[in-house]
Amino acid sequence: MPYVITEKCLGEVYAQCVDVCPVNCIHPGKYKDQDFMIINPEECTECTSCYSACPIGAIVESPEADPAYAKINAELAPTFKNNPAIPTRPANDPPRHATNKLVN
Ligand code: SF4
Ligand code: SF4
Repeated sequence: MPYVITEKCLGEVYAQCVDVCPVNCIHPGKYKDQDFMIINPEECTECTSCYSACPIGAIVESPEADPAYAKINAELAPTFKNNPAIPTRPANDPPRHATNKLVN
């Protein structure tokens, strides 16, 4: 069961998750006119590394935890996977959205 990046990531994209993914299956792109990141469900090995690396807890451990965003990750993967990498934001950088809180 692949991990899934959820709505919390929209406009935040710390990209800390990208650095820890051993199979390079996390990719950036635009969604709803904001920067976003997806996990390619075809390649995720459920290694758990990204889950604890996200500073705002934007990653869930299964599609069942957020079926709507699981579908969005899967649908965006074919196009996002060809996008170039983006810079990492420091893990202690305050979230841009007031609804998000640093958890790690
Ligand atoms: S670390 Fe979290 S907020 Fe940053 S890109 Fe990954 S999922 Fe999105
Ligand atoms: S669970 Fe592991 S393989 Fe899957 S996206 Fe996260 S870091 Fe990559």
